[in-house]
Order: sequence, then C-alpha cells, then structure tokens
Amino acid sequence: MEIELNETQREIETSVRKITQQFTDDYWHECDENSRFPEEFYRAMADAGWLGITMPEELGGAGLGVTEAAIMMHTVASGGGGQAAASSIHINLFGPHAIVVHGSPEQKKRWLTPLIKGEEKACFGVTEPDAGLDTTSIKTFAKKVDGGYRITGRKMWTSTGQEAHKIVILARTTPKSECKRPTDGMTLFYSDLDRTKIEVRRIKKLGRNAVDSNATFIDDYFVPESDRIGDEGRGFYYLLDSLNPERVLVGIEAIGIGRDALNRAAKYARDRVVFGRPIGKNQGIQHPLAEAWCSLEAAYWMCMRAAYLYDKGLPCGAEANAAKFLSGRASFDATTKAVLTHGGMGYAREFQVERLFRESMLPRIAPVTEQMILNFIAEKVLDLPKSY
Ligand SMILES: Cc1cc2nc3c(=O)[nH]c(=O)nc-3n(C[C@H](O)[C@H](O)[C@H](O)COP(=O)(O)OP(=O)(O)OC[C@H]3O[C@@H](n4cnc5c(N)ncnc54)[C@H](O)[C@@H]3O)c2cc1C
Repeated sequence: MEIELNETQREIETSVRKITQQFTDDYWHECDENSRFPEEFYRAMADAGWLGITMPEELGGAGLGVTEAAIMMHTVASGGGGQAAASSIHINLFGPHAIVVHGSPEQKKRWLTPLIKGEEKACFGVTEPDAGLDTTSIKTFAKKVDGGYRITGRKMWTSTGQEAHKIVILARTTPKSECKRPTDGMTLFYSDLDRTKIEVRRIKKLGRNAVDSNATFIDDYFVPESDRIGDEGRGFYYLLDSLNPERVLVGIEAIGIGRDALNRAAKYARDRVVFGRPIGKNQGIQHPLAEAWCSLEAAYWMCMRAAYLYDKGLPCGAEANAAKFLSGRASFDATTKAVLTHGGMGYAREFQVERLFRESMLPRIAPVTEQMILNFIAEKVLDLPKSY
C-alpha cells in the first residue's frame, strides 16, 4: 500500500500553485469586501486549461479523475483565495457530470466546450426554500408543452447565478403523489439563464462574498426539449452520480482553507513577541495549532481515500461523506484557532484569518449538512433504523 502523490499529481500542485501565487491577499480581500466575482482568477484558470480537468478529452478536457481534481482544488483553496477561489471554478468539475454521463454527443459539444474554455458559466438550481434537504419534495414544476417545457418555481442559494449564462434546474415533471417512488418523476434541464423569466436575487451572507448565492424565481420559463438532460423523470438519479465527487471536493477545499489559516497562525506565533518572547513559545499557543495540523492531515487522507475509491469505480458513499464531515470540522477548528492565535488582530480584516474563519462555516452546511451525513452513516454503515 502506497499513500503518496505520484509525479503527475505533484506537477498538478506545482502548476496550479504558480497561478494562485499571482493573486495576493489584497486581491482576495478586495473581492470579498466588494462582493466582486474573481474574474481574473477564473480567467487565469480557464486559460491554463484547468476548468476541464475532469471533462472528456475529445472536448478539450483533461479526462482526469476526482483524485486529480481534489489535488487541484486543495491547491486552489489553500492559496489565499479560500472558498472564493474554489467556488469560482468548482461547479465546472462535477456540476455538469450528469451531462458528461447522460448528455447526447450534440449536447456535450454544445454545452461542455464553452464551460471548459471559460466562455460560459453555469449555476445549479436544486435546493428549494420549502423542501430543504428533502429534495424529493421540490415544488418547481416543468409542464410539457409543444417543443419543450414551461418551468415555474423557486430555487434557493443558487450560487454564481449573477454571473451564469446557463442554469441546471431540477424540476418535477410528475407530481410526487403520482410517482411509484418519491425519487421518480424529477427531470434535469440545462438551458440559457433567461433573465426575463428568471429573477436572480442576491442573498447577503456571512462569507465567500466574492461568489454570489441567490434566491431564484422562475416564472413560466420555456426550455426546449433539446435542453433536457437524458430521460424525463430520471433527473434525481442522474444527480446522485455527482454527489460523492462533490463531497470529496468540498471536503478537500475545506482542508485547503484550514491549512492556509494554520500556516498564517504559525507564522504569526513565530513573529509576535509578548512578554519578551514569541507567543509561539507558549504551549497554550503551540498545542492547539499542532492539534489542528493532526486533524487536517487525517481529514485530507480521508478525502484522498474516497477519491481513490471513486476513481476505481468502487463504492465510496460512506468514505465521501465521512471525508466531507471530518474536513468541515477540521477546517472550522483550524480557522477558529488561527483567529485566536492572532489575538485582537485575528478580528481585523488585515490578517485574512477572519475571512477564512467566516468561509470555513460553509463546508459544514453545504452541499449537505453534518446531521444528514451522520444519518447516512448510521443507516447505511451501522445498519441502524432510519430516523426520519
Ligand atoms: C453559501 C451557500 C451556497 C449554496 N449553493 C447552492 C447551489 O449553488 N445550488 C443549490 O441547489 N444549493 C446550494 N446551497 C444549498 C445547500 O446545499 C443547502 O443549504 C443545504 O443542503 C442545507 O439545506 P437547507 O439549507 O434547506 O437546510 P434544511 O433542510 O432547512 O435543514 C435545516 C437544519 O435541519 C437539519 N435537519 C433537517 N432534517 C433533518 C433530519 N431528518 N435529521 C437531522 N437533521 C435534520 C439540517 O441538517 C439542518 O441543520 C448553498 C447553500 C449555501 C449556504
């Protein structure tokens, strides 16, 4: 058993690091402060070909696995830009997975090529205000009409909706009450984000302010039949394919943020002199940071284990969920300790750790909460009765 990155994987790290190093703390601070999308970073990643890392080679992608995508996203998130950097490109990696697997050759060419080149951005509308984590209770409905569908409903938290040219929508095409199983009767669409029919209202939020999230109102929005992904009624099952990679990527991004914060804290602890010695000479400062290092390291390798299983085509649900759970907590713990190590300066914007701290709450909540992960492990791994 070898647990190490190979040469190609280390090269990914080195190449991506060269890009992240071009973007300073001031850059990320400004994007966060002004709620401005990091277009320059996004463009640099697109121009270097990274937006297609997991996309098919025949369309200009690199055709690599979730392991390589995870290495890339860890490098991105640990490079100072945290969640803002990661979320500006994250959706490209596994968001369009349903298209890669279930799209027709014509759809793949039409949709994936502009995403890979960075000519188009996409957003993802699954969550709804009245359904929450109970996805089968979504109300957004796509009514069959001549040549396509008319969609009406509401989505919540649609990230990058202010920037996106395209939107993935999960909608009911058959009411839940008429389906054999609650997971039947939902359909996935990918179409132009027509702002005359879709209002995208930005939500003010705790962190990751450079990348918008929105309440989305869809009113009698026409989608041609050619913009339906795969078969009608199979949308929920298509989404399932991408859930495990998404958990791994969100987990590893959290680790990147935690490691960045930890490095900043260790540097501050070496430099800051109080009572005539560096604060890092006190075990009360050292030990929490050392403990954070241990947790981040363990969670990192859990992510890599889940990625490895996924890429081998092996079951990885428990591992991917555990990876996201452990990473979210380890990251939040590390950023909290980083703020505390900085004392008063931890609360100041100048030292960046408060930004990382605010962002580290997000991977504990999205794309799935800690409670739902524990429900999954209890039920599927420990064979305990379903609790809800
Ligand atoms: C910044 C941000 C960006 C996002 N981006 C997107 C996006 O681009 N597209 C998209 O579709 N969604 C997006 N989301 C939505 C995100 O995936 C959801 O917020 C998340 O899945 C939680 O759903 P909810 O907010 O509806 O929580 P709810 O379902 O309302 O749950 C609230 C709380 O109750 C708990 N709970 C509920 N049921 C149970 C149960 N049976 N057992 C134990 N606990 C339970 C939950 O764990 C949670 O703690 C984003 C969210 C945020 C915050």
